[in-house]
Amino acid sequence: MLHLAGQDSRGLADALGIALADARRILGAVVGRGRPLREARNVRRAVLDRAEALASAAPLSCVTKVDARDGFRRYLFALADGARVEAVRIPLFDTHHTLCLSSQVGCALGCAFCATGRLGLTRNLESWEMVAQYLAVRADSQRPVTGAVFMGQGEPFHNYDAVLRAAHVLCDPAGGRIDQRRISISTAGVVPMIRRYTAEGHRFRLCVSLNAALPEKRAALMPVERGHPLDELVDAIREHALRRDRVTVEYVMMAGVNVGEEDAAALGRLLRGFPVRLNPIAVNDATGRFRPPGEAEWKAFRDALARHLPGQPVVRRYSGGQDQNAACGMLASTGA
Ligand code: SF4
Repeated sequence: MLHLAGQDSRGLADALGIALADARRILGAVVGRGRPLREARNVRRAVLDRAEALASAAPLSCVTKVDARDGFRRYLFALADGARVEAVRIPLFDTHHTLCLSSQVGCALGCAFCATGRLGLTRNLESWEMVAQYLAVRADSQRPVTGAVFMGQGEPFHNYDAVLRAAHVLCDPAGGRIDQRRISISTAGVVPMIRRYTAEGHRFRLCVSLNAALPEKRAALMPVERGHPLDELVDAIREHALRRDRVTVEYVMMAGVNVGEEDAAALGRLLRGFPVRLNPIAVNDATGRFRPPGEAEWKAFRDALARHLPGQPVVRRYSGGQDQNAACGMLASTGA
C-alpha cells in the first residue's frame, strides 16, 4: 500500500504539488477502488511518477484473522517494522460492516480494565497504516464497510493529526466514501485535544470514555483522570455538545464497581443540561479482575439512570466478539 493513502485528496494535491482533480483520481484508484496507483485513469505519466515517490511497499500484512461466534472478525496485522496491531470488523444488520481501527500500537493510558493498556505504548500509527487497516478489511469483505470507529488499540487523541488525516481519507468522496457521521473518534478524556477538536469543527462523532463519574473511582480505573480531571473533562464535553454536536459518553460497566445508585446519581449531576448519549457497555476483562454486572444489577442501574438522567438517551451497547478476544478492551495483539 501507499503513503499517499494517508491523506485526503486536498492533502495529496498539496503534498505532490498536483491538481486537485489528479489527486482525486489517484486517491480514487488507490483507496476508492483499492487498485494500484498506475490504474488511476486520465492522469499524466509524469504525475503518476511523482505520486509513486510517495508510495511504499505494503505497510501491513494480515497475520491472522479469527471469527467470533457472533460474526465479529478480529484481524491481527504485522506492520513494516514488525509491530503488531489489530482491527475488528463488526457486522451491521446482516448487510453492512463497520470497522474498529487502531490508532497506536498498544496504549500509554493504562486503564485498569483494558488489555491494550497492559501492553504499554510502542508507537503511534501513521495515517496510512490506519487507512491500510480499512483497505485490508474491505478487500476481505463481501458486504460494504460503511462505518469506522477509532476505538481499537490506542488513544486517538494522543495521535491527533494522523487520526484526523486518516478519518478524512475514509470520508473523502474519492477515498473511502464513508459518511462523516458514521465515523467515530473515541478518547479516554485528553481534554486539550477535545477542545482543539471542537474548535476545529470536525463533523466526525466524538465519543468520550467516562467509565466513572466520581473522581476517586475514575482515577483508580483510568490514570488519565490525574492529568485531566473530571470537572475539566465535563467542561470540554459540555462545550462540544453545545457548540457542535451531541457527545457519546461510553461507560464500561463493572459489577460492584461503578454501577451503583451513587454512580448513577453522579452521572446525573455531571451530564445535565447539554445533549449527550450514554452508552453503557459490559466490561470484557480476560484477567477476571472485573466482571460485567448481572441482569439484576444492570436493571437497577438502568432504572437509576432513568431517574437521574431524565431526557438523555441511554443505549446499552452490545459488546461482541468476546470468544475471540475481539471485544472492547480485549485487543492485545494475540494470535488465533
Ligand atoms: S481503554 Fe482505550 S485509552 Fe484506556 S488503555 Fe485501553 S486503549 Fe488505552
